[in-house]
Amino acid sequence: MNAQYDVVIIGSGAGGSSLAHRLATGGRKVLLVERGQEVAKTVDGTDRYLYHVLGLDQPVSFIGGQTKFYGAALYRMRESDFREVQHEAGVSPAWPITYQELEPYYLEAERLYRVHGAPDGDPTEPPRSGPFPHPPLPHDPVVAKVVERLNASGTQVAAIPRGIDYGPGRPCTLCPNCDSHACAVDAKMDADTAALRPALATGNVELAAGVECLKVLTSEDGTRTTGVLLKADGVERVVEAGIVVVSCGIPGSALLLRRSKTKAHPEGLGNNQGLLGRYLAGHSSGVIFPILGLKSIWGRHTKTFAINAFHDEAPGTGLPGGVIQVSGQAPIWEGASKITKPIVKFIARRSLLIFYMTESLPTKEAGLVFEGDEVKEVIRPLHNDKTFANLRNLAASLFRKAGYPVITRSRNDLWHQVGTARMGVSPETSVTDTECQVHGISGLYVVDASVLPTAGTVNTGLTIIALALRTGDSILRRLAGGAKPKTRTPELA
Ligand SMILES: Cc1cc2nc3c(=O)[nH]c(=O)nc-3n(C[C@H](O)[C@H](O)[C@H](O)COP(=O)(O)OP(=O)(O)OC[C@H]3O[C@@H](n4cnc5c(N)ncnc54)[C@H](O)[C@@H]3O)c2cc1C
Repeated sequence: MNAQYDVVIIGSGAGGSSLAHRLATGGRKVLLVERGQEVAKTVDGTDRYLYHVLGLDQPVSFIGGQTKFYGAALYRMRESDFREVQHEAGVSPAWPITYQELEPYYLEAERLYRVHGAPDGDPTEPPRSGPFPHPPLPHDPVVAKVVERLNASGTQVAAIPRGIDYGPGRPCTLCPNCDSHACAVDAKMDADTAALRPALATGNVELAAGVECLKVLTSEDGTRTTGVLLKADGVERVVEAGIVVVSCGIPGSALLLRRSKTKAHPEGLGNNQGLLGRYLAGHSSGVIFPILGLKSIWGRHTKTFAINAFHDEAPGTGLPGGVIQVSGQAPIWEGASKITKPIVKFIARRSLLIFYMTESLPTKEAGLVFEGDEVKEVIRPLHNDKTFANLRNLAASLFRKAGYPVITRSRNDLWHQVGTARMGVSPETSVTDTECQVHGISGLYVVDASVLPTAGTVNTGLTIIALALRTGDSILRRLAGGAKPKTRTPELA
């Protein structure tokens, strides 16, 4: 960590690593600081399930961030997600940029993360300037039968776009250990495998793993960033930099900015209007279990289809609905109580795990409540109660119509969280500008889930990556004195 860096990035998740890739391929020197280490490999390398590695409810702190365990469902947010939309419980606000502005970066993000997909069967698929880089993943025979019966009973089914290194000569074997697992053969295109490793291969990125950033440093008048205070093995040191990017995820980015307070910014950087930590949003997510039969179907790669036709309108309501998506197999019974465990295990091994997700809306009240420099409480975003219940009933009815008995669960969990340092045009209502630079502090950027103003209802990972590439171009332009960056994500072999 002695060299001069053009940019210091804190956090190696989807935002941080994708940005590092962009800057490194643009010829810039980057220091990437990550407090976690590599996900430890097991002896046989077969099962590194989230809860085995971390236990329940631990923050995901690894090289690659949460994407080491994600399901690699890499969706473009739908065109309407960028506009103001009325929901049952309130309004989903408009983004300060349009889908069309982000579209070229979605295409590059799909190439970088080797997304397999097709627009067929998805009426909400937004316009694209190029095809999906790879064809959709094939369905497992058991899943193919379900898709066939859904289609035959009149339900429009589409492929889930997946970031997987699959195809002739490629490492993915479509094993069951994908969603909620770290890939044993590095075939899942996570932030580490898809972006960070190629970025390191350029020689332009230095990775400081196991190092925590304690503070972002700013000039005395608070108008520009000057570097970071890091801590490793109990030793603190300052690294100077004119451009610092905070990519610590939720709640990490808001916390780091809060802890970086100075006389000029007494409530934390980007918090002069009290907006840091606010406008949390995400997906209200529930599950249903269509039972496929008495025989176990365990050990299959199931995450290949979705029903997105109700994203813009739930039938008969005139209001947005949500999406229905099959998940990968995971030993979900491990989170169950001792008494219910055998029942959950019996059901999980004979059914598909189907998520249904509605949008949870950002409000100024929703988000992180700080006490000093810690998060005391998290206030959840606005949940669309009736829409959520209707979508559950609708999802269950579609599978029943296709001939499957269905067990439903009414709990709603907040997933795919976004916000807490949202982007916008005005410093009165947002933490960063539309290039993800913190209002009023030159050289300080936030690039991760925290800047997304809303979550729509499809998975948000590809949008985090596309925004990171876009901010990368903005930083490259700035470093080149305004010249247009030459890099584009290379076509993959
Ligand atoms: C099980 C699971 C499945 C998912 N499936 C999908 C899916 O299929 N599709 C999808 O789109 N999304 C999915 N998601 C969500 C998606 O993974 C996240 O939204 C996304 O990865 C968030 O990226 P990020 O860049 O905001 O930050 P994070 O992934 O949260 O990364 C932040 C990183 O910053 C580091 N950090 C934090 N503070 C500091 C500090 N002070 N100093 C140094 N380092 C620091 C952390 O250790 C972490 O590695 C899933 C998530 C989980 C957990």
